[in-house]
Amino acid sequence: MELRSSFGFLAFHGGSLEEETDTIAVAAAARAGASLYTVLQPAELRWHIPSADIDPGASPALARFLDHVEVVVALHGYGRAGWWTKLLAGGSNRALAADVRRRVEAALPGYEVVDDLSAIPRALRGMHPDNPVNRPRCGGVQVELPPRVRGLGRYWNDHPEEARPTAALVTALGSVAQAWVSARDSEPSTSEVRPRSSGVPNGAPMKSVAPPSAMRPI
Ligand SMILES: [Zn+2]
Repeated sequence: MELRSSFGFLAFHGGSLEEETDTIAVAAAARAGASLYTVLQPAELRWHIPSADIDPGASPALARFLDHVEVVVALHGYGRAGWWTKLLAGGSNRALAADVRRRVEAALPGYEVVDDLSAIPRALRGMHPDNPVNRPRCGGVQVELPPRVRGLGRYWNDHPEEARPTAALVTALGSVAQAWVSARDSEPSTSEVRPRSSGVPNGAPMKSVAPPSAMRPI
């Protein structure tokens, strides 16, 4: 875990389970100065814990991470026949999902990011309120990555000379995080629009509002 900016990258099915999701999260977070939480599943434990069953109450580190960040991108891996070039952008923050689609599609010709929830298989939409991706104050985006975009799978046996898209994906995800943080920092915060002092109003003499005693009704 790394606590850096208020934008976080999550990969809790990393290691041997959804391979490379953790390394992509680490690289994107480092690039963007973003916070990071990864879980590396050991090779002998290929147990896919459903996202909604990952309980920050049972993991102090995850709880600290979710307290620290305001929004997250959670990276997962999936594989479905016919969907080898489709990334899925689910999760509760739909504006951020649209930004993921724009930036990743611009960086990865030949890949599509599906951010229309109705077009995403229900089990991969990431909309459960207990899913860690939806727990930060501004929610988050669940990005499901097919093997090919992670540089994995049979495709690469047949195309060994072709450059892997993983580095461009990392750059695009990092730019999503940087854009979100700078948009947030440019919004005036409540303390900046409020008068600096809660005491005497500017230039007003302390007692001028009180009438001289001679004018007081008796
Ligand atoms: Zn997963």
